[in-house]
This record gives sequence, C-alpha cells and structure tokens, in this order.
Amino acid sequence: MAQVFADLHRDHGVDLRCDTAVTAVQPAAGDPSSAGAVLLSDGTELEADVIVVGIGVTPNVELARSCGLNVDDGILVGRDLVTSDDDILAAGDVANAYHPLLRRQLRVEHWANALHQPVVAAQTMLGQPASHVRLPYFFTDQYDLGMEYTATPIPTGTTRS
Ligand SMILES: Cc1cc2nc3c(=O)[nH]c(=O)nc-3n(C[C@H](O)[C@H](O)[C@H](O)COP(=O)(O)OP(=O)(O)OC[C@H]3O[C@@H](n4cnc5c(N)ncnc54)[C@H](O)[C@@H]3O)c2cc1C
Repeated sequence: MAQVFADLHRDHGVDLRCDTAVTAVQPAAGDPSSAGAVLLSDGTELEADVIVVGIGVTPNVELARSCGLNVDDGILVGRDLVTSDDDILAAGDVANAYHPLLRRQLRVEHWANALHQPVVAAQTMLGQPASHVRLPYFFTDQYDLGMEYTATPIPTGTTRS
C-alpha cells in the first residue's frame, strides 16, 4: 500500500525522500525570522520559501512512566483499557492496548481509534464489563485515489498462532 501511494505522489511531481531526516532549518539570508533552507541527514541542503511540518509518531509517555505505569511503545493497557494501575486508564494514540481478536498488544494512531476507545474506557470506569474489539480503521483520499483500510498488517515472515 505504501508503494502505491508513494508512486502516486511521485507521478504528481512530489520529491518524496524516505529514510531521510531533517537535521536543521537555516534562516533566510538577511532575515533571521524567516526560514531559508532545510538541511537533511544525507547532507542535502534544500532551499525553502515555506516549510510545512507534519510530525507526531512518538507517544508522550513521560507522565505515565513517572507515575510508575508499565510503558512499552505507549502505555500498556488491557482489553478494558486499564493500565498497570487499576485506577488509571489510557485511550487513543498513547494506549498500547491488548486486542482480543488480534491477540496482541496494538497501538493505533488514527482518529477512529481515538473516537471509540474512550467509550470503552468510560464503560470500564462505570464498572461495566467492556472491551475494545474494533479493528483498526482509517481512510485517506489523495488526488483521485481513495482508500479504506481495516485491520492491521503484520510484518512479512510473521505467522500468528
Ligand atoms: C500529521 C498528522 C496527520 C494525521 N492524519 C490523520 C489522518 O489523516 N487520519 C486519521 O485517522 N488520523 C490522523 N492522524 C492521527 C490522529 O491525529 C490521532 O490518532 C488523534 O489525534 C489521536 O487523538 P488522541 O486524543 O489519542 O491524542 P492527541 O490528539 O495527540 O491528544 C493528546 C493530548 O494530550 C496532551 N498531553 C500530552 N501529554 C500531556 C501531559 N503530560 N499533560 C497534559 N496534556 C498532555 C497533548 O498536548 C495533546 O493535546 C494524524 C496525526 C498527525 C500527527
């Protein structure tokens, strides 16, 4: 799927660079308040008039960790979204929740998950038996291509018992 969308963007003239990080943003010559160039980890310097930043894939778990909660790629929770402390629940991007259908911990970074998990968390808080069983879902529309994606991929070569 990633290749399909990468090709789509390249077909539209996008210069897509994977495995390349931004190491610095340099100010414009004569105007330190404006960006002038972006430096990349491969040594490339790209001139820029406008820079748009789209980031956010690392869960912010410092508060949870400092509280002594179990943390591993997000805050570890069970199917009921309860953390290692019975009085604390976690939902959304930051929650690495046990998924009873997929039978493994899973952290999902999509809007639909952030919408539905809090309902389960609220039910759990109210003492009602609750379990987050929805499969991950997201959609995207890029140029004329739309995609809806349900469930989650497993790495090539992995088998599930
Ligand atoms: C660039 C980008 C594009 C995306 N595009 C899509 C998309 O097209 N489709 C889609 O489905 N999803 C998309 N997502 C994912 C979607 O935005 C998230 O899944 C969703 O916002 C998660 O909601 P959340 O409430 O779990 O977390 P967040 O929206 O991240 O909210 C967590 C909040 O907690 C606050 N916080 C963190 N630590 C503390 C603390 N110690 N004390 C107090 N507050 C704290 C943060 O400041 C933040 O406001 C995108 C995300 C990014 C970054």
